[in-house]
Amino acid sequence: MTREEILKKIAAETAVCTKCELHYSRKKSVPGAGPVDADLMFIGEGPGFHENEQGVPFVGAAGNFLDELLESVGLERTQVFITNVVKCRPPSNRDPQAEELAACDGYLERQIHTINPKVIVTLGRFSMHKFLPNAKISQTHGQAVRVKGRLVVPFYHPAAALHQPSLRPIVEEDFARLPEWIEKAGDVPEYVELSEDESDDSKPEQLSLF
Ligand code: URA
Ligand code: SF4
Repeated sequence: MTREEILKKIAAETAVCTKCELHYSRKKSVPGAGPVDADLMFIGEGPGFHENEQGVPFVGAAGNFLDELLESVGLERTQVFITNVVKCRPPSNRDPQAEELAACDGYLERQIHTINPKVIVTLGRFSMHKFLPNAKISQTHGQAVRVKGRLVVPFYHPAAALHQPSLRPIVEEDFARLPEWIEKAGDVPEYVELSEDESDDSKPEQLSLF
């Protein structure tokens, strides 16, 4: 299978997935969007109202702000892959629960493996906790760690800055350094196709502050 076909297959699986309770509130799953060879991948929290309607990530207010932030560093949405830690909308936008995050993680792991980005930006604490389970976003945002050859950089969620205007300049400063992180990331190990039932669940190598 080509990498495009693998991404399509993952998306098709999420559309009919019943691995967690969130499938009850799903209208459309939101597997993620962007080029299969993106150097930069954003991982948010989960679909909201508009995303659930359209099946596309970050199309509401937070998405518009994300577009602005990308533009501020000369990037367009079409150049980056954007997804979430859960692919179906939590009812009333409640926090995703531990068992939902665990159930959905396999899709995200396969996406990361397939896209093989140099830099992963986590948006908000849920996606940060995938890589840094004990980190506090107020202390860790904007700092990179190396995980399996790539840089993982936690950012505040853009929606947090919309709700709390004092965070806005902090979010803007973190975004301003993105080109630097992409430059510093260097090359990732080459993509290797996994066999059908082989998942990339090797433990992350030791995390170190970059
Ligand atoms: N917030 C998220 O975390 N993800 C989306 O897709 C939209 C809003
Ligand atoms: Fe499946 Fe993920 Fe949707 Fe849960 S959130 S039903 S695990 S695709």
